[in-house]
Amino acid sequence: MKRSALAISALVMVFTCITNLTAQERVWRGDRTIEKISEHVYRWGSDNQFGAFILTDEGIIVVDGHYCGSGTAEWLKAELDQRYDVPVKYVILSHDHQDHNCHTDQYSDTAVAVAHINILPHLIDENRNSAIPGITFDDEMQLHLGGVTLNLMFLGPTHSDNLIQVHIPEERVLIAIDSAKGKNLFPDFRDMDVNNQLKAMRTLANLEDVDVVLPGHGPVTTQTAFLEYYEYVRTLKDTILQHMRDGRSLQETKSMTEALMRETFHDYNGIDRLIEYNIVTMWDYLYRYREPNVSIKHFEATECIQDSRECRTN
Ligand SMILES: [Zn+2]
Repeated sequence: MKRSALAISALVMVFTCITNLTAQERVWRGDRTIEKISEHVYRWGSDNQFGAFILTDEGIIVVDGHYCGSGTAEWLKAELDQRYDVPVKYVILSHDHQDHNCHTDQYSDTAVAVAHINILPHLIDENRNSAIPGITFDDEMQLHLGGVTLNLMFLGPTHSDNLIQVHIPEERVLIAIDSAKGKNLFPDFRDMDVNNQLKAMRTLANLEDVDVVLPGHGPVTTQTAFLEYYEYVRTLKDTILQHMRDGRSLQETKSMTEALMRETFHDYNGIDRLIEYNIVTMWDYLYRYREPNVSIKHFEATECIQDSRECRTN
């Protein structure tokens, strides 16, 4: 009894320490802003994370929530209540990632949530703190409110299998959450369809009726942001794919690709910190993409990732 009580108290201490560590992990800047972009479109956010809202005479359309712990989503709701005498009618969820939809359920008394159909299992089964969409679509849909038309577009699986773009052509604004990356890198490619991501970047770079692009992170930008990220992903993919076709091990591929990418994309934010994860997860994507001519050792990928000495070197 005594021993198990000790073990439990030790576990509680460890858990408390972890909880305290987690609580201390991120200090929120609280640099909350609302910026007018065009006649009806506004950008809001803090801590380098941004959503948008569209203000009309008949109501407001909010795009996205915010980090769960930042307090910025709750702040926005209070600001909208105080500034305007029209209710939030729609909440568009750009995609299922929690940092972009947390607290969107705070509008559920007046608004219906809108998202891509594929978002549902992610929100429900991952138990996201989010509104559950009452309106879903597959390829595209138009949303009309107070004389403003929004085109919601799904370009296939990209940064997730449910990421959508919000285009307001009459105001030449494109809200491209987690698509307009520019020279900013994702930590890895864990839920990205890389080949379709490349296709989508070109489509968005050439979309008509766009002057201003609003990314989910970073400053207001233009369509060059799609091409900048396209160049990075295409070079990384093509380089790793060639090493795989040449029969190089993951270890060899890592060191050779890392040198090239660091040199070519030295001005991309986070390249030093993230290049290794980007290479390994791109390798994993391409491992599942291609079939080599030589036979593969059973469980090769798992063994290779766990211990580089196990990588095939022929
Ligand atoms: Zn995301």
